Amino acid sequence: MKIIAAKKILKANDQLAEENRAGFNAAGVYCVNVVGSPGAGKTTLLEALFTALKDRLRPAVIEGDIAGSIDAARIEKLGVPVVQINTQGACHLDANMIAAAAADFDLAAIDLLVIENIGNLVCTAGFDLGEHLRIVVLSTAEGDDKAAKYPAIFQGSQALFITKADLLPHLNFNAERITADFKRLAPQSEILQVAAIQGDGIPPAADWLAGKCAATLR
Ligand code: MG
Ligand code: ZN
Repeated sequence: MKIIAAKKILKANDQLAEENRAGFNAAGVYCVNVVGSPGAGKTTLLEALFTALKDRLRPAVIEGDIAGSIDAARIEKLGVPVVQINTQGACHLDANMIAAAAADFDLAAIDLLVIENIGNLVCTAGFDLGEHLRIVVLSTAEGDDKAAKYPAIFQGSQALFITKADLLPHLNFNAERITADFKRLAPQSEILQVAAIQGDGIPPAADWLAGKCAATLR
């Protein structure tokens, strides 16, 4: 019987992730891994950011879903190149899947590659995909206690997008609480608050992302 320790699998993933990152660096592609629960508003955020950035950056997307291509169809509608990964049950993406998906793009024609991970705040935390930046998306409706309850995913992220800010008047969401918890876990990180459908907070968020891109690649 062969028994493979999870640690070894993660090590193999980390090596592949480094190879992905080296490939993105060589091609001048900035890669962002977007994580968050199902329904956090990840795709809606991407739609708003891409619309704001359309004259500045050439984006592409890898969509991770257990089944279907609903989000990929939304991204495609914007004229943004997209590859759908269907994990058929697996609850996170890994670096191997990203290597296969990225091979489908002409990286020379891309500045920003966004990976929309499977909706999941748990095991997506354990898998480096080769990204330069990991963004965790949390909607106000999910509650302000999530960084305290799911620390790993927040700890490994460099930015928190608080989405659906327009709902704040209807919720007991304490932005100071999530800010304090997140800053304790990830002191060097950025926190941005948006209402993507209304466009509130999107222009500064788009500027911030374009700045991260430029600072890493040039
Ligand atoms: Mg989505
Ligand atoms: Zn998983």
